[in-house]
Amino acid sequence: MNEASRILSEVLKEGRKSLLEIEAKTICTEYGIPVARSELAKTPDEAVKLAKSIGFPVVLKIVSPDIIHKSDSGGVIIDLKDEKQVLHGFNQVLENTKRHNPKAKIIGVLVQEMAKPSTEVIIGAIRDPQFGPAVMFGLGGVFVEVLKDVSFRVAPITEDDAREMISDVKAYPLLKGYRNTPPSDINEIAEILVNVSKLVMDHSEIEELDLNPVIVYEKGAKAVDARIILQ
Ligand code: ADP
Ligand code: MG
Repeated sequence: MNEASRILSEVLKEGRKSLLEIEAKTICTEYGIPVARSELAKTPDEAVKLAKSIGFPVVLKIVSPDIIHKSDSGGVIIDLKDEKQVLHGFNQVLENTKRHNPKAKIIGVLVQEMAKPSTEVIIGAIRDPQFGPAVMFGLGGVFVEVLKDVSFRVAPITEDDAREMISDVKAYPLLKGYRNTPPSDINEIAEILVNVSKLVMDHSEIEELDLNPVIVYEKGAKAVDARIILQ
């Protein structure tokens, strides 16, 4: 059995409906989707050790099966620049989470490579009862949240479909570069869309998948968050 199937059956066996970010990222990696390097720390000292091996600055995130929207509960702290900030950040993330949800089961804190700021896009998939899985694309922030500027295609999709999806959104010109923002690697976005399509075609137990955000550069891209919800 491959790693993705193993993780999915383990999560189902435990009676969970959503995967931890690190589980979702492991599955994404298996499908060739680039993700920000992430390691699980159980103690502040372990977090410092991992931060040193990943390289500063780092991001810390709460790991809990009871917290789906991590930043809503103060569970994400970005841009920690040294050991002291990581030690303090570790406790901060735990405190914030406990204040927000005292009953949340806490597994640890994810220490993550801090991706350089650039254009943020959202890539996802949802399972429609009638059409099956569909892949979604949009630009991050107000474009998806306020303007609902997104495109969908029923999976499986080809690379040509993926390119069409990308050029279908109204914000598309922004991906070609503007002012101080360099053009985005559209080939890479298309490849991620195709790989997400493969992933949800292979695993019918996935109800919803969200890479929000994927940070896109002139060359390459990185999913810094990954969420997978099961049926
Ligand atoms: P949430 O569960 O709240 O969606 P995210 O993991 O998406 O949590 O983190 C919240 C925000 O923090 C992201 O939208 C992104 O702007 C920023 N962020 C998270 N992880 C990273 C990272 N590794 N590098 C850079 N920015 C990050
Ligand atoms: Mg997110």
